[in-house]
Amino acid sequence: MKTVVALPGEGIGLEVVDATCELLMGTGLPLKILTPPQGAPLPDETKRAAREADGVLFGAAGPKTSPVVSWLRWEMAAWAGVRPIRFFPGMRSPLAEPNGIDYVILRENSEGLYPGREGQLADLVRLMPDIADRTGRTVKEFGTEGRFAVKVVTPRGAERIGRFACDLARKRQARGKPGKVTLVTKSNVLPKTDGLYDEIVGRIVSEAGLAFEHFHVDDAARRLVRFPRAMDVVLCMNLYGDILSDLGAETAGGLGLAPSGNFGDGWAYFESVHGSAPDIAGRGIANPTATILSAALMLEHMGLLAEAQRLEAAVGRVYRDGKVLTPDQGGTAKTRDVAQAVLAAYR
Ligand code: ATP
Repeated sequence: MKTVVALPGEGIGLEVVDATCELLMGTGLPLKILTPPQGAPLPDETKRAAREADGVLFGAAGPKTSPVVSWLRWEMAAWAGVRPIRFFPGMRSPLAEPNGIDYVILRENSEGLYPGREGQLADLVRLMPDIADRTGRTVKEFGTEGRFAVKVVTPRGAERIGRFACDLARKRQARGKPGKVTLVTKSNVLPKTDGLYDEIVGRIVSEAGLAFEHFHVDDAARRLVRFPRAMDVVLCMNLYGDILSDLGAETAGGLGLAPSGNFGDGWAYFESVHGSAPDIAGRGIANPTATILSAALMLEHMGLLAEAQRLEAAVGRVYRDGKVLTPDQGGTAKTRDVAQAVLAAYR
């Protein structure tokens, strides 16, 4: 028996996690699903249950449940965000030719501008008055009215995510993918911080004998729309990954379809890429696909690879049939109907 801790978060998180847990229980897999209390701060008993569980499934964060995701991601140091972007025929992509979109955005989750570290410009000017941009303009020339944010990158952070990208690319290569890492930074503007990633990740990927390419984030945004089939593992610094994963999700058909797995040292949790979507919460129309696919990633992580693949195939069948779809995909079905249709296809 494997134990799963399900934390719904809020808004549509409640609906999609409920529907997904019902589906998981319906599969007959040897799973025990626990739903410990959330609360702010997150209760110790919940943290303990999540640490001890074989799998942790999170729904969606909103303003009230930010301590949950704060703990899952930042405090537990889940530094690698794996966000597969995959089009299943029948999904409502805005692209003319979405067939074959199948890549992963790997978001560095622990460095860069997240979680925000901000302060008063006056303090920065006092401490480092002469820090200057490439034109020679110093920070003190901005005056003292204003604020600043700190972007931190470390060689350790770049190395571990670079290695993670290589492992992921090799795993995918074994399944017939090209074995390529695309790095996304903005090192033309930030040669010291983003440039460190260029240098370290480029070296690690070429030492691993994998194909490597690099694009600045603006160019990468364009390429994910124009050439999505050319992508394999797209390694993005934190902020770029946050933005590009929404863009990528939309090319495949929408935010309701995009799953993720977040990995740290001896720690992992799984969640949809989308947030709590207050605009549609409570109406039972949220698409549970992102959470179901996150649960498939979780099953794989728990060692249930065949079952994970079977669940993904069941999602594929539901979209191919096109009969039971939520409104975001052009249907009229409810959240639970879609999850139950996936369960029927799984069986
Ligand atoms: P966050 O800042 O946490 O990302 P957000 O409100 O900016 O939250 P989301 O909550 O992810 O963004 O939702 C953006 C929009 O996408 C929602 O308004 C909703 O219309 C749509 N959406 C998101 N998730 C789903 C879903 N599972 N099913 C259907 N529509 C969704």
